[in-house]
Order: sequence, then structure tokens, then C-alpha cells
Amino acid sequence: MKLTVAKSAGFCFGVRRAMDMAVEAAKRYPKHLYTLGPLIHNPQVVASLEQLGVKMRETVEEIPQGTVIFRSHGVSLEDLEKARRKKLRIIDATCPTVKRVQFFAKFLRRHGYAVLLVGDAHHPEVEAIRSYIKDKVEVVDDVQAMNRLGPWAKLGVIAQTTQSFRLFKEVVAACLDRAKEIRVFNTICPATAIRQKEAVEIAKKVDCMIVVGGYNSGNTQRLASICKEIQPRTYQIEEARELDGKWLVRRKEVGLTAGASTPYWVIQEVKKRVKSLEGSKT
Ligand code: SF4
Repeated sequence: MKLTVAKSAGFCFGVRRAMDMAVEAAKRYPKHLYTLGPLIHNPQVVASLEQLGVKMRETVEEIPQGTVIFRSHGVSLEDLEKARRKKLRIIDATCPTVKRVQFFAKFLRRHGYAVLLVGDAHHPEVEAIRSYIKDKVEVVDDVQAMNRLGPWAKLGVIAQTTQSFRLFKEVVAACLDRAKEIRVFNTICPATAIRQKEAVEIAKKVDCMIVVGGYNSGNTQRLASICKEIQPRTYQIEEARELDGKWLVRRKEVGLTAGASTPYWVIQEVKKRVKSLEGSKT
């Protein structure tokens, strides 16, 4: 059995940067160090940070004093203001690519455009973006939702960084019927686009696809669903031990990719388990 591993699998630039900042902060400010929400959507990584003294809290209210790290998804304006009022030391690990979406959202509002954001309304990145333009934004995560929106005189379209490029194109096309003037900023992260493209290419040629990443990771879920459309034998797992040997029986080629928040060591463990299960002919 051949195992094809995506070159783009695992930590992206923004996640690696946030991790480096957290590890550095743990050395410099070992007391009272917190992240607001999980630093990245991966429980194994959150547990390893906890070992270094980086504690996770869901709200600013739960942080009594010290240092708060804002994660790569960004933080809402309200939370930023609360942290400032509490005089917490702020380490802002918001990914520069996410900041770019926040910038375009504010730019569009300032220039009188209604904002349409292609994304998951409940994702922290989307919630943060909304907060900077005071909720004056429509969020869509499927093209059918466009039927209930518009018409607009001036419309600006942006996307959550980890959205599917295909959906973004479909929504932009649907906007042509509903707005007189449209400005589109492609804010999908290049790392995400490359990862999805490579996953599609691998899924097309294998007879089983494994996607590794946190169940709470939106970009991993999206990767799994894109692969599943092409290869129905696609399985998402969080850790190597979840890999079921039955999935590999009589498979000639297996593909492996991972979300942006999946650490290298988890991918290595999955690779090892695929090889060992192949040897045992489970
Ligand atoms: S996926 Fe892209 S936007 Fe999101 S953290 Fe990684 S590099 Fe930044």
C-alpha cells in the first residue's frame, strides 16, 4: 500500500507564529499567563501548552491579572477593550492574514459598502471581524443563503481566511444579480487555498483519505468535507489511535493531510500507525 502525505499538512505560518509567541511568553512571563480561548483548535497542543504554564480561559473576566495571549483567529473589539481596562499585558498573536480581513471589513464600511462575509457565523475569527464593523455585515456559509439577501447598491465581499475557495467564487457569482456595484477582496489565506488544492489532488487518486486535526477545527472539518466529496472513504481523526485498521483493508493507496492546527508530531504518529496497521493486515 502506498501512503501519500500532503506537503502542506500541518501548522501554517500563523499557527506556528502564535505557538512561538506562546512558548517565548512562557519563558518571559511564567506567572499568570493565559490564552483567551484555545490558542489553536487542537486539544493536544492546548494540553502541551498547559504543561508550560500557559493556561486557557474562555473569557477576559476569568483572567485575574498578568498576561493574555490573543490567538491567531484574532479577538473581538469588546475583549480587546476589556483586557485594556483590566491592564493586562497583551501579546497579540493574531495572524497578519486575519488582520488583513479585519482591515478590509473596516475599509468597506468606511467607504459605504454593505459587507458580505463568506464564513461560519460562529467561528471566533468571524465574530471578531463582525465586532470591528459593529455587526453591519451579513455572513453566509452556503450559496442558497444568497436567495434571502440583497439587493444592494454597493456591496463588498470578503471571506473568512479558511473558507473554501469554490464557495467564495459561487457567492461572488450570485452577487452579480443582486448588487449594482461590487468590490471583492479575496481574503482566503493562500496557505489554506494551497492545502485544499493539494488535498483535492490527492483525494482524486487514492482509495482512502485520512484527514488529521481537531474536531473543533473549522479548517480541518472543511478539508475533510472537501475530500469526502471526491473520495467517500475519507475519515477525520484527531489522534493516531483513532485510526481504524478496517479502513485500510484492500486499499492500494492512502492519502494523508492535516489541518493548519495539527502539530507535526501528531502527523508522524498517524503515519507510523498507518504503516503498522498495514503490516498487521488488520
Ligand atoms: S490558516 Fe492562514 S490565516 Fe489562518 S492562521 Fe494560518 S496562516 Fe493565518
